[in-house]
Amino acid sequence: LISSLTGPGHHHWSYQDILEWDKDYPECGGKAQSPIDVDTQHTVFDAQLRPIQLSGYNLSTAETLELENNKHTVVLKLPGTMKIIGGLPEIYQAAQLHFHWGSKSNPGSEHMVNGRRFPGEIHVVHYNSEYTSVEKAANHSGGLAVLAAFIEKGPDYNEGYEPLLSHLEAVKDGGQITEIPGFDISRLLPQRLDRYFRYNGSLTTPPCLQTVNWTIFNQTIRLSETQLDLLEDTLHHDHDQLLQENFRDPQKLNGRNVLSSFKAPVVGRKAAGEAPPSDSDDSSSLNPGTDAHGEDDPQLGTGDMLAIIFGILFAVTAVAFYVYVRKTRKRNHRSSDSKSNVIYKAATAEENVV
Ligand SMILES: [Zn+2]
Repeated sequence: LISSLTGPGHHHWSYQDILEWDKDYPECGGKAQSPIDVDTQHTVFDAQLRPIQLSGYNLSTAETLELENNKHTVVLKLPGTMKIIGGLPEIYQAAQLHFHWGSKSNPGSEHMVNGRRFPGEIHVVHYNSEYTSVEKAANHSGGLAVLAAFIEKGPDYNEGYEPLLSHLEAVKDGGQITEIPGFDISRLLPQRLDRYFRYNGSLTTPPCLQTVNWTIFNQTIRLSETQLDLLEDTLHHDHDQLLQENFRDPQKLNGRNVLSSFKAPVVGRKAAGEAPPSDSDDSSSLNPGTDAHGEDDPQLGTGDMLAIIFGILFAVTAVAFYVYVRKTRKRNHRSSDSKSNVIYKAATAEENVV
């Protein structure tokens, strides 16, 4: 998450030795780690969670920002004048943003929802303005706040991402740094900042400090296929190797609560890569049901009803078949003991009831 926070040891780490992280960085083996898989059936609605309110995010083009390929991700340094002024217990100021992604064949978000991984994820890292630096804040409980949003593929070109994506080529080699003009950073986030999940976790990279107040937006960001390809296939780390699949797998909750700022509907597991219907050009919702209705009572969709009807029909058929088999068997036994009943051995009713 924050690669500049390499800790006192200055060890090297990589996504290839993820299971060894806790040897050099003990907190990586802690009980409040990130990312997590958000199970929307077990999130707790909290009416106190106000919409995330941003300030100073629309940067002037006169401002210059440092963009770096640090061999783990692409990082955009952000000025402290950018702040979160609502939706968190304190004021947090921006430090940097970066991305996690996969490859053409694998999605690469860090957080997951109901077992579903998204193509990519943006993290905008902020620190509590009580502290003088992000490094200092990172060592204190409640010191950091990260805004996270999922990136997926959409039909349209996302103009808001162009001021960033158009400069990726300039940092394609590991260690490269370039300066880019300021732009409206809020356009890298979803439009709806009122619907989100909240939990306490950690940096997702060493030193894995457990001081992050996480906000994961319910609405996703959509990039065109070309834009997503650019994010996945441009950067390299050392030795001409493509920098891909820079994500950590979900960590155990260990009793932590995941709060939601909205009443989440009861949704089933979604197949990976299945895109929910969009409610705007370049974003869509993880839970489209509530956007349309916003009702408290979960409703069964047509798909659910059909599944139930087919399930009942199937069960009835299976039972009827079983009864038929039993009857025929008895009849066969009565009529002739020598006659084998092989034809009924192949498929029992039990095997067919999924
Ligand atoms: Zn991150």
